[in-house]
Amino acid sequence: LGENLTNTMKKLVGMSVIDKKTIKEVVKEIQRALIQSDVNIALVLNLSKKIEKRALEEEPPKGITPREYVITIIYEEMVNLLGREAVGLDINQKPYKILFLGLQGSGKTTTIGKMCRFLQKKGFNPAVVCTDTWRPAAYEQLKQLTEEMQIPLYGDPENKDALDLAKKGLNEFKNKKVIIFDTAGRHKEESDLIAEMDQLDDIIQPTEAILVIDGTIGQQAGEQAKAFSQATDIGSIIITKLDGSAKGGGAMSAVAETGAPIKFIGTGERIDDFELFDPERFISRLLGMGDIRSLIEKAEENIDEDIAEKTMNNMMSGKFSLIDMKNQFDMMGKMGPMQQVLNMIPGLGGKIPKEASKMTEDKIDSFKVMLSSMTQEELENPKIIKQSRIQRIARGAGVDESEVRALLKYYNNTKKAMKGFGGRGRLRGSTMNRM
Ligand code: GDP
Ligand code: MG
Repeated sequence: LGENLTNTMKKLVGMSVIDKKTIKEVVKEIQRALIQSDVNIALVLNLSKKIEKRALEEEPPKGITPREYVITIIYEEMVNLLGREAVGLDINQKPYKILFLGLQGSGKTTTIGKMCRFLQKKGFNPAVVCTDTWRPAAYEQLKQLTEEMQIPLYGDPENKDALDLAKKGLNEFKNKKVIIFDTAGRHKEESDLIAEMDQLDDIIQPTEAILVIDGTIGQQAGEQAKAFSQATDIGSIIITKLDGSAKGGGAMSAVAETGAPIKFIGTGERIDDFELFDPERFISRLLGMGDIRSLIEKAEENIDEDIAEKTMNNMMSGKFSLIDMKNQFDMMGKMGPMQQVLNMIPGLGGKIPKEASKMTEDKIDSFKVMLSSMTQEELENPKIIKQSRIQRIARGAGVDESEVRALLKYYNNTKKAMKGFGGRGRLRGSTMNRM
């Protein structure tokens, strides 16, 4: 598999302009790789159309070869579908009620055990409720899993009423911060299963409903996701059994169907075989390409450099706007403290506003939040930010008006310090490279 794609990509090395034919060839290989990884055909066509269009129309940023750029585009389009970062769980309210859904055998109960361990490591002490009245020994299975970790479990093998079990479980654990509900994955009819999930959803009112999907099932994942989303709003997806040869491409249609992100993957039967979903790794695996990470990093660096150079040029020519300042803050995270960055500009060393050298990370973060509460117009033309706008920005960012004023003051001082450096010519890319 990946071989063909890798070979096709290799052909692109060194081409300064990629012709239509080559792009079409690459896109064909991508299609092949994705389809062989069980990605839904409609999704594949949709993705490849976007990739082809962008590859033909867009110009690679400076310093990036066309090949690297094509890979970046492929990656970005897939990430658009899957989400950029591992999101994990954000236990931000009490009680945090997690409802597990999925067909029998998908790995719900096993995954609940894994999640309990995961949460315990994070300092939470979850409780589990068994509402699966269908699988023989469903309660026993959970008991074994939870006992080892001393996780409280509610269930009753004699009780065959899932709704009653859910109510009693809720009551039993009403003081717990995190409650996890295991459910049945089978009924006489699938429609009965979905109806039961619908009723459980009404009773439990989950904070997060997690759909568990067997990574080896391929194309059916979309159908399953669709069926379960009739019962509840699927908040996230876990793909299991990615320890084998399965690439889990089928799960992409579950994502497309529900709009919910994949948060974790199961990579084995043991309790620790559980990982945060990493979109990049998943995509590399789907495409059968190992070197996506380094290529993406290189492309991102080059794009950053483009922005950095532009920002610096604006600074030096006195056209320094809040947008430039925003870019500057973003760069600071990557290039080190402001002072260091400014020190590299010849002749500027002594004139750094003293606030700049005292900027802490917290301060920068708070500035960034305020900047993101501003409109494009305000960023481009900060002069228009007067009292009523300050008030609105403060409210939007959840800070005091005085803090918005402090930000504006910082901006004005920085801008003032930049003045007088106009006409010294453009900052060369080579200077940026040394940063
Ligand atoms: P449930 O019916 O949805 O509750 O599924 P179970 O948790 O009982 O799991 C069904 C089977 O899948 C069991 O044999 C598990 O050991 C196995 N299983 C679950 N997750 C994984 C995984 O990530 N990798 C592998 N290889 N097996 C898994
Ligand atoms: Mg189960």
